[in-house]
Amino acid sequence: MSEWLDVGADNYVLVTEGSLLNTGLIVGSERAMVVDTGCGPRQGREILDAVREKTSLPLVVVNTHAHYDHFFGNAVFASDGATEFWAHENCAQEIDDHGDLQRRFVGTLEPEMSTGEGENVELVVPNAIVKDQPVLVDLGGITVTLFYLGRGHTDGDLLVGTPTTLFVGDLVEQGAHPSFEDSYPEEWADSLRHISALRHRYEFLIPGHGQPCSDQFVKTMANTMTTAVRQAQQSIRETPTDATKAIPVLPYGPEQSRWFIKRLQETRPLH
Ligand SMILES: [Zn+2]
Repeated sequence: MSEWLDVGADNYVLVTEGSLLNTGLIVGSERAMVVDTGCGPRQGREILDAVREKTSLPLVVVNTHAHYDHFFGNAVFASDGATEFWAHENCAQEIDDHGDLQRRFVGTLEPEMSTGEGENVELVVPNAIVKDQPVLVDLGGITVTLFYLGRGHTDGDLLVGTPTTLFVGDLVEQGAHPSFEDSYPEEWADSLRHISALRHRYEFLIPGHGQPCSDQFVKTMANTMTTAVRQAQQSIRETPTDATKAIPVLPYGPEQSRWFIKRLQETRPLH
């Protein structure tokens, strides 16, 4: 059984098995907010059951970005009465346009989600939208700030700030290499520096997966990424026909390095 970790007054983190997803819970006096819902009805149910051990208040949901392990559990929360699902506009658009394509990734973990047959397998597209300006959500006695720092892990990463804690989704990953599949590597490093600049405002920094992180961890992640961008760009310049030559020198695993180079080439500003 998963256990809650206390991260500041009325702030909690639940780690669920599998990808070690961190789900946030912020409990106000009138409502509670759940940050990321898991990869289907099974994990969603596990998360909801754990939430219900903590609070019986009405729930609002946040999806930090449009990767299946962060939003495929939404329908379970809708069936529990949640009607407000927050996300960045690009995340909501991506879920609406291509969310179904991610069903193939869940496989045997969530067979119902993968086939789309069963209870709570429909996609719930976020309907409460954050754009470039921060949005304050009042839970009663505690106000949560939802904000966007630009492109990074995806083009729609939403951050969730409370008086004590910053939930950053997969912009920061602890215990695994960052995932570059839908990323904007150059801009991601900037977003990490921006997170680091906020360090005095929050006591706890919660990544999308893994242990709570220090500011030093975020700075190192940013510097590593900037160095990797430089190394990969040099390789691309030197051997434009085979940029994969950069893979051995990059500070990531081979598969992630391959994605890193691909995304760098696809997303380079034209200058
Ligand atoms: Zn992700």
